[in-house]
Amino acid sequence: MVHNAPLIPAYGGASLADLPRSLLAALGLDEPNTLGIEPARRICLFLVDGLGAELLRAHAGIAPFLSAAAGRTLTAGFPATTVTSLCSLGTGVPPGEHGMLGLMLAVPGTGHLFNCLRWKLPDGMVMDPDRWQPAATVFQRARAAGVAASYVAPGEFEGTGLTEAVYRGVRYLAAESVDDRVAAVRQAMADSPAYVTVYYGDLDSTGHRTGWGSEEWLRQLAIVDRMAERLAEALPAGAALYVTADHGMVNVTTKLDAESEPALKRGVAMLGGEARARHVYTEVGAAGEVLDAWRETLAGRAWVASRQEAVESGWFGPGVRAEWLPRIGDVLAVPYADLAIIAPSVHKIEAAFIGYHGSMTAAEQYVPLLEVSTR
Ligand SMILES: [Zn+2]
Repeated sequence: MVHNAPLIPAYGGASLADLPRSLLAALGLDEPNTLGIEPARRICLFLVDGLGAELLRAHAGIAPFLSAAAGRTLTAGFPATTVTSLCSLGTGVPPGEHGMLGLMLAVPGTGHLFNCLRWKLPDGMVMDPDRWQPAATVFQRARAAGVAASYVAPGEFEGTGLTEAVYRGVRYLAAESVDDRVAAVRQAMADSPAYVTVYYGDLDSTGHRTGWGSEEWLRQLAIVDRMAERLAEALPAGAALYVTADHGMVNVTTKLDAESEPALKRGVAMLGGEARARHVYTEVGAAGEVLDAWRETLAGRAWVASRQEAVESGWFGPGVRAEWLPRIGDVLAVPYADLAIIAPSVHKIEAAFIGYHGSMTAAEQYVPLLEVSTR
């Protein structure tokens, strides 16, 4: 199916960036409650990586608990990718404000790409999380207001640069199995007031490898559904569970290698972003020529915009802070058709995926916000 206009995220209305401050407001903090969340003493946010609203709807029978829960739909943000959405959830501001504008971004003035997920730069270079993402987190604000803020996730992410950048100030509770995570949430929810986030990542990683809707992915969806049910059963009185996701996913059969396609190579210095949301950094003075070439090559398959057009169209939010502008590609290429724009020398594993996300199609943008409450 071909979409002719990008689904611009509903920043300031119903986007992921609007969720955390609404939750804090429900816990009694002086924050904007844009989503109108009802007051609660304890809130658990179950963050399921890659659980798009359309994906869940397509397989409602595999996820009876989630499908029966009351809910609505939010837009993820642009790009629809984990680092960007985690940062929106961690800061409560849109990407243009927090600066986590994609998976791999140019570090201005260095000529290098920074992988914001792995927090990786070329050898010998390091990135200070406070410098890359200086905004206060909602966890810091919760703590300052006397709300116990906890994060339950596998130990491998504890202390990483990304965790420091987006979960700064949280109490990290490392838990591996589903059983351990449910137990850790139950314990953290004994605090009052409490704001507990619990993360599940295997649905997304499975979707990348085998495609969403595959047998393995459906097995993961069933695990997620049962985990949500157990988290709901563990709720103390006066509490609420919210289930959401950082983005959805599309399965892709057509790959275009931007490193070997002559029309896409001319004037290009670096290929950042990811396959469904490319940041194209051009050589000095080549931006116009690259924009024309990418537009022509990708006609009917991707939205192609200059940095200025993307910013003015509100892709990253109502505005982009001036200091973050150089992180954005001179040209952005965002597929809406069955297409992944791959760059194998930059990200070899990604080039072999079946499931992708990043773009502004409904399948990638829409995430559920489901609610179960004991208020
Ligand atoms: Zn992913």
